[in-house]
Amino acid sequence: MDPIRDTLQRLRETFRAGRTQPAEFRAAQLEGLGRFLRDHKQLLQEALAQDLHKSAVELEVSEISIVQTEINLALRNLRAWMRDEQVRRNLATQLDSAFIRKEPFGLVLIVAPWNYPVNLTLLPLVGALAAGNCVVLKPSEISKSTEKVLAEVLPRYLDQSCFATVLGGPGETGQLLEHRFDYIFFTGSPRVGKIVMAAAAKHLTPVTLELGGKNPCYVDDNCDPQTVANRVAFFRYFNAGQTCVAPDYVLCSPKMQERLLPALQSAITRFYGEDPRSSPDLGRIINEKHFQRLQGLLGCGRVAIGGQSDESDRYIAPTVLVDVQETEPVMQEEIFGPILPIVNVRSLDEAIDFIKRREKPLALYAFSNSNQVVEQVLARTSSGGFCGNDGFMHMTLPSLPFGGVGASGMGSYHGKFSFDTFSHHRACLLRRPGLEKICSIRYPPYSPRNLRLLLLAMETRSCSCTLL
Ligand code: NAD
Repeated sequence: MDPIRDTLQRLRETFRAGRTQPAEFRAAQLEGLGRFLRDHKQLLQEALAQDLHKSAVELEVSEISIVQTEINLALRNLRAWMRDEQVRRNLATQLDSAFIRKEPFGLVLIVAPWNYPVNLTLLPLVGALAAGNCVVLKPSEISKSTEKVLAEVLPRYLDQSCFATVLGGPGETGQLLEHRFDYIFFTGSPRVGKIVMAAAAKHLTPVTLELGGKNPCYVDDNCDPQTVANRVAFFRYFNAGQTCVAPDYVLCSPKMQERLLPALQSAITRFYGEDPRSSPDLGRIINEKHFQRLQGLLGCGRVAIGGQSDESDRYIAPTVLVDVQETEPVMQEEIFGPILPIVNVRSLDEAIDFIKRREKPLALYAFSNSNQVVEQVLARTSSGGFCGNDGFMHMTLPSLPFGGVGASGMGSYHGKFSFDTFSHHRACLLRRPGLEKICSIRYPPYSPRNLRLLLLAMETRSCSCTLL
């Protein structure tokens, strides 16, 4: 007996029977998800405090309300999103109906990471359910307490014939990936992203890969250092730095570094007090393995701010490193913790060269009072997302697609982009059975005259002429 096979079989039968297709069914699942969040906020808060020492405010902003907003958006727009999208026709198809139909893929697998274990598990689920799919959810085994709530409580709020949770780590996920899915949505590291994509390739399953990397943060000399420091520190140390879109390192001139350091120290003290360890607002490192990894990174360059740690509490102080070499581990791997290296560059050109020599990041930040400088960084680089003069605010807008490019991932979601990601866009043309005489110009025997007419008829023009 293979429990995974049985579960997938059950979900496939539900999908084949068309149960998930009607808008009413989809809306009922989304409403169930919303109720789960409302009814069990306290439970989720306790779980996230255990897993990550997440503060109530960070929980509300980055885990609960963001999912609730997307649920509400999907509920408000579901019927409009599901509607066929009429498209422009050429002369040959003027009397026909041409449209894109958004169809659910079928059986979808969502694999999630541990750093925002509610947000990054449920946000893709909103899109998958809205688009009418059956879903297997694989939460992260590392954020154990949240995984338990998602496994034990969430299923009570969703239709069991179209939804299942599978638990486990790399071994179990590997087994799951041997099965065939119609779509795989993975959020996690580039290393595991490659494993997922290789497994998907065996079944020709399409994937979205939401990966990580190092997000550069360029700070121009023409800036108010305190404003920059407040914003960079807030987004770097949010969730103890365990954020895929956090500014990973600062690029600035030695002159700006001198002005930034006291400003960063001031921001850290204002945010977390003289002893950040006792602040209720600073998170903890998820587990021993990541703590040890980060402890190793503290040895790179020179500690200018912070640097303290306590293994028993998995605490690492908000830290700034200077005199960091490009070849050191802290500049080679994604930091994913409360450590901010500053790398010196002599000019904007040098900063842009530095960024372009590396993999395309998930997010890129540029701070300057000059719009021209921000525009230049934007125009001369590439990244999944970009924000001028702030941290990851761009990803709070459901009107913007969220995703990576190159090594930071492929595909995107949030808002309507989620619905579209989980829908197959089917190209449809409904022709009339009549008018065969006009159609006959296509058939052999071919002639130059008919070819001319055919080419004219197949051209798509912006005017909606109705000659045929
Ligand atoms: P991870 O890649 O280790 O794990 C992600 C998921 O994959 C987990 O559910 C895990 O059980 C599963 N997994 C782990 N090893 C596996 C294997 N060998 N085979 C199959 N499945 C396996 O990532 P993580 O440590 O949970 O999260 C941190 C990473 O995720 C960082 O790189 C971060 O940047 C990235 N991330 C990206 C986004 C984004 O939206 N782009 C968001 C959050 C985190």
